Amino acid sequence: MDDLKFGKRNKRGDWAPSEPVALAPLFRLPFSLKAFLAWLPHYFLPWNALFALSAVAYWAWIIPPVETMQTLSWGWPLYLYAVNAVATFLFYGAFELQLYVLKRQERRFKYNGKFPAEQKSKAFWFESQNLDNILRTFLSGVTIWTACEIVVLWAFANGYAPWLAFADHPVYLAALALMVPIIHEFHFFCVHRLIHTPFLYKWVHSVHHNSVNPSPWSSLSMHPVEHLLYFATVFYHLVIPSNPILALYQLHYAAFGAIPGHVGFDKVEVGEDHAVDSHAYAHYLHHKYFEVNYGDALIPLDKWFGTWHDGSPEGEARMNERYRRRKEKLAAAEAAKADRAGQAANS
Ligand SMILES: [Zn+2]
Ligand SMILES: [Zn+2]
Repeated sequence: MDDLKFGKRNKRGDWAPSEPVALAPLFRLPFSLKAFLAWLPHYFLPWNALFALSAVAYWAWIIPPVETMQTLSWGWPLYLYAVNAVATFLFYGAFELQLYVLKRQERRFKYNGKFPAEQKSKAFWFESQNLDNILRTFLSGVTIWTACEIVVLWAFANGYAPWLAFADHPVYLAALALMVPIIHEFHFFCVHRLIHTPFLYKWVHSVHHNSVNPSPWSSLSMHPVEHLLYFATVFYHLVIPSNPILALYQLHYAAFGAIPGHVGFDKVEVGEDHAVDSHAYAHYLHHKYFEVNYGDALIPLDKWFGTWHDGSPEGEARMNERYRRRKEKLAAAEAAKADRAGQAANS
């Protein structure tokens, strides 16, 4: 496909879409039914439907019987870790293999003109982004995801969480299924904003941001504390009346859903003239500029809090203006402090 029909490439070889990133029309005012209906298929296809289906498949073929999950032991948790690890290896690995190893679509639609393997950095374990990212994914990422999964399944199995059956509450549970990405967006925005505070950024979130040029394995490359905060999104299903399949969907949305946001390409080509949107540009800009786009705009939280960057020159100007004002404020505070210190010395 000709990516220059959809965007432009600068001298460094970085590609950017020509259209600014649009906010989902869900919470946009005034509400437009036309925009909502045009957007709706993208809400389901392909990503959300895929993660919902994988949750159903887990429930049908992977998750042990309820009686087994009533007791915590080593067997079924280790088995779930193994399944999650294999699923991650296959799903993440497929993107890595196609786009970064075999380079099937070369640099078409690639935001950053360079491939991470071309840049060594001391920030990473063994100075390799890939090795560092892969180790973090399997050591703490899949482990903490599985631990959260075990706690939730064990709670459901023992009646500690309100478990509704699909046969008894089909409408409510279907509505809750539609809410899963919205719960994720709300939760992710809150924890993400929290770990951008200076102390937590330095000790926790900087690990994820080492990947300035993210690739598929960067998706779950986080500090264990961030993994815990990130996967805690599933615990909403222990509080609100739900069903274990929806809890699994919530987890899969976080675990597998991190991939599209870090794939590094705006579109993933499928065949000669088809491509699937990754919707990754907003989060790519977050990795590039750090203090914009804490969320993915499903709920326009960044817009409301003034941190939205849609990739347009206006978005860039708004960001630079915000940085300039903050610098001024910091300089003024420093000057006032020096003033007070001077007065105290004179008196
Ligand atoms: Zn990220
Ligand atoms: Zn961040």
